[in-house]
Amino acid sequence: MIEAADTSPTDFIRERIRADLQSGKIKQVVTRFPPEPNGYLHIGHAKAICLSFGVANEFGGRCNLRMDDTNPAAEDQEYVEAIQADLRWLGFSWDGMYYAADYFPQLYTWATQLVEKGLAYVDDQTAEAISASRGTLTAPGKNSPFRDRTPEENLRLFFEMRDGKFGDGQKVLRAKIDMAHANINLRDPVMYRIRHMHHQRTGAKWCIYPMYDWAHGESDSIEGITHSLCTLEFEHHRPLYDWFCDSLGIYKPQQIEFARLNVEYLLTSKRKLLQLVEGGHVQGWDDPRMPTLRGMRRRGYTKEALRAFCKHIGIARFNSTHEHELLDFHLREHLNKTSQRRMAVLDPLKVVIENWPQGEVELVEAINNPEDATSGSRQVPFAGELWIERDDFMENPPKDFFRMAPGREVRLRYGYFVKCTGIDKDADGNITAVRCTYDPLTKGGNAPDGRKVKATIHWVSAAHALDAEVRLLSHLFTVKDPAEQEGHDFLEFLNPKSLVVVRGKLEPSLQDARGGDRYQFERIGYFTCDSKDSKPSELVFLRTVTLKDAWQKAQKKQGK
Ligand code: ATP
Ligand code: MG
Repeated sequence: MIEAADTSPTDFIRERIRADLQSGKIKQVVTRFPPEPNGYLHIGHAKAICLSFGVANEFGGRCNLRMDDTNPAAEDQEYVEAIQADLRWLGFSWDGMYYAADYFPQLYTWATQLVEKGLAYVDDQTAEAISASRGTLTAPGKNSPFRDRTPEENLRLFFEMRDGKFGDGQKVLRAKIDMAHANINLRDPVMYRIRHMHHQRTGAKWCIYPMYDWAHGESDSIEGITHSLCTLEFEHHRPLYDWFCDSLGIYKPQQIEFARLNVEYLLTSKRKLLQLVEGGHVQGWDDPRMPTLRGMRRRGYTKEALRAFCKHIGIARFNSTHEHELLDFHLREHLNKTSQRRMAVLDPLKVVIENWPQGEVELVEAINNPEDATSGSRQVPFAGELWIERDDFMENPPKDFFRMAPGREVRLRYGYFVKCTGIDKDADGNITAVRCTYDPLTKGGNAPDGRKVKATIHWVSAAHALDAEVRLLSHLFTVKDPAEQEGHDFLEFLNPKSLVVVRGKLEPSLQDARGGDRYQFERIGYFTCDSKDSKPSELVFLRTVTLKDAWQKAQKKQGK
């Protein structure tokens, strides 16, 4: 038996697996991740993936990827491929790749066995009548008038269903359990419905399709899954999961439920994400504001950050919503260690150094990443005309503003001390340039006489600056829980400022940036060269996350 490494998390699921291995109930843990290929994976799936693949890895087991492709209406091969690619990106590989649709023949055979045993029947009622006769939490349901058909008749009708004798909705196959059961899921649930529809894997072979509850546990059983990990909303389906396996007398995996992932400002419902895409509210599934793995990757999220976040939040049995700042914290943690620093000015204001030798360009040495000694340094051109951020200058600064202002000396990062001597304005009074003098003795950023300055600001040489498009991304919604606003549609809370496009001035070494490269723009935030829209001739950068770390600050305040 292989024990989990010391660094792996512990939670009620891992405890259970450990106990099952120790007692000899199972020899090897086998899990699965079963997405329905009707959309792209999102951050909620990342939690389920980290759990099912995580425990398999930690305990020396196996984890399958299974396409839960039992519903032909919404599914597509495009999604199948995207799911595989996104899983690989997250750093996981599956032991077996399966399709629930490949189990259709076995499921069908098992269904006929239940019919023969008198445990399933063909019902002619409409979907509306079935749902109306299901009863409520307090009232029992009513038996269908077709419930007492003989197994022979049911078998004949079920064959005819499969053979296409009936139209959509004319008949269903239902499990025969108990219409008065306290758990509504056991009141004769539907197992098959008729859909004359092309299926992306089985084509026109089938016109009856199994329901989730009927297909899922049986697929788990076929694959020898030991622990079938799913989200809490399936807790009340577990008795049905068990009933199907027990009634067939087949191997019964253990279903265990855990809380869904919810994160402030992020939607984790594929249906709603599809609405965003189809309604043109975002530019696609890979829009960098989307909580899809595609979107997040494009925006600059790293798999390490996502996995660290999933590990941090752990596994619980109650639903809760995590702060977005916690996700940002893990993102910054990883980007801080791995991203090279660059200087970029996003709202440029010209600085003219009046005593700089005419036409001279000096190359100053800039450290690539102070967190990573191996990342070395680069040379950045410094000259007599520079760009600085407009908000690093104030003509009439308040007391607590320490950056550039008339008469004040500040440090230009890696360069010199400069002192503001004047301001140029246009006819409307707008500041067009700041005039300065520099102190040649402060080369590298320190004064030999020991005098101090209170601020260090970043800059880009105007003659060498690269122009680039910079997309400032923020939350897609203005409220933390857009889907939970009573009486309102989540689309009412779209943030009109979630994408603000500016033209930036970038230091020239960024000319080599290619799609997917991540940087920290000093004093601003982390940015990624857009893998979709950036070209060497027209660079596009996306703001991954700002530098401000409200979450860590709040934790410190609370003494954590
Ligand atoms: P949706 O309601 O968005 O369609 P789903 O649960 O139907 O989500 P699937 O593709 O069927 O999506 O999910 C595959 C697996 O991922 C399931 O085991 C499901 O429980 C899990 N999963 C989906 N969303 C989340 C989430 N927000 N948190 C944790 N696990 C999730
Ligand atoms: Mg689903």
